[in-house]
Amino acid sequence: MTFENSLAYAQAQDAADPLRPFRTEFLFPEHDGRAAIYFTGNSLGLQPKAAAAALKQELDDWAGLGVEGHFRAKHPWYSYHEELTASTARLVGALQEEVVVMNQLTSNLHFLLVSFYRPKGRRVKILTEQRPFPSDTYALASQIRFHGLDPDQCLMEVRPRPGEHTLRPEDIIAKINELGDALALVCFGGVNFLTGQAFDLKGITDAAHQVGAFAGFDLAHGAGNLHLKLHDDGPDFACWCSYKYLNSGPGGVAGAFVHQRHLGTELPRFAGWWGHDKRERFRMERTFKPMPTAEAWQVSNAPVLPMAVHRVALEQFDRAGMERLRAKSIHLTGYLRWIIEGISDTHGGMFNIITPQDPAQSGAQLSILVNGDGRGIFDRLTARGVFCDWREPDVLRMAPVPMYNSFEDVYRFGEALAECVEG
Ligand SMILES: *Cc1c(COP(=O)(O)O)cnc(C)c1O
Repeated sequence: MTFENSLAYAQAQDAADPLRPFRTEFLFPEHDGRAAIYFTGNSLGLQPKAAAAALKQELDDWAGLGVEGHFRAKHPWYSYHEELTASTARLVGALQEEVVVMNQLTSNLHFLLVSFYRPKGRRVKILTEQRPFPSDTYALASQIRFHGLDPDQCLMEVRPRPGEHTLRPEDIIAKINELGDALALVCFGGVNFLTGQAFDLKGITDAAHQVGAFAGFDLAHGAGNLHLKLHDDGPDFACWCSYKYLNSGPGGVAGAFVHQRHLGTELPRFAGWWGHDKRERFRMERTFKPMPTAEAWQVSNAPVLPMAVHRVALEQFDRAGMERLRAKSIHLTGYLRWIIEGISDTHGGMFNIITPQDPAQSGAQLSILVNGDGRGIFDRLTARGVFCDWREPDVLRMAPVPMYNSFEDVYRFGEALAECVEG
């Protein structure tokens, strides 16, 4: 692909972008009277304009109907989560019975680990990526302790080779094979939050299954970013949050996937009334009879207010389509990479983009190691109304999001970065 560092080129790309109209459906923070350059959609996605009306609908139904809203609201609260199932299944490439919207991300990870981390005999270890998001490390280590085992012995990470920053796919597979029958579970991110590296879900899943282990993924940075095919790729479980690429608001409701092969089986789980067979839920019987779908993992009734926002956001993903979003994302992120490399070249190679260039190993995020005053550059960008993210000691992260970012955003970001590098 040939790029050009000019406003005219960027605007021509935007004019040809079939997803262009989506930008106008979002509220952007402003800086000096114009939309900020918002490259932190991997951290908190922007607010869809339609979110406020969706929330108001539920508040009005609550005001007007009280408890009767459970069955008589415009979107009855009793079955609210079911209205999110079809879009969620399309979003992550799953069957409808394999997905459920519920709880929050780390809670879902715990509930799924109850079912899928069951250490036995020699098979006690969990393999994860180097430096997963801290919450995942806490969850995995505490689950290991919960089984009376020692995280120092049981929680293994795949590390990059000396001098490298990301993982080689063949090293992940080799580690799985090396652990063999000591391995109970491989639990990876879909995209590493720090490096932006995307992992091969199918390759990792197949390797885990070959040694008799389960495979699960935390898709916090994968859902709404990668074109996922969970059913076909075959992991045993996955979970994600909705406030990053899925634009569903701070602390929004999360999602979970359990592969079809585990539905209706005797897997242990922590149960609650919303996982009980819905036809009999209100008989309030003492014996738990699980739903034959991923809803068996639900414990509580649906949090309608965050779900109202999530409904709006999912509907946008339905209209945009992951295939088109992903195609734009590869183009947009490729442009940003090219712009940053140009600036780096004129400044003695001060930026080292550690996110792999291969589109199979990356999503909408670029992570840059800064040789020099990275913190100063970040602070100057922030002062100019550019939203990106700084991780000590030396990583600058940015995510051009295909749903609402433009090629012009990337061009203007390049202008701002070039000036901020000068000091
Ligand atoms: C963002 C993120 C979380 C956050 O967890 P919550 O339960 O939503 O607070 C956890 N894990 C990963 C990998 C993340 O990227």
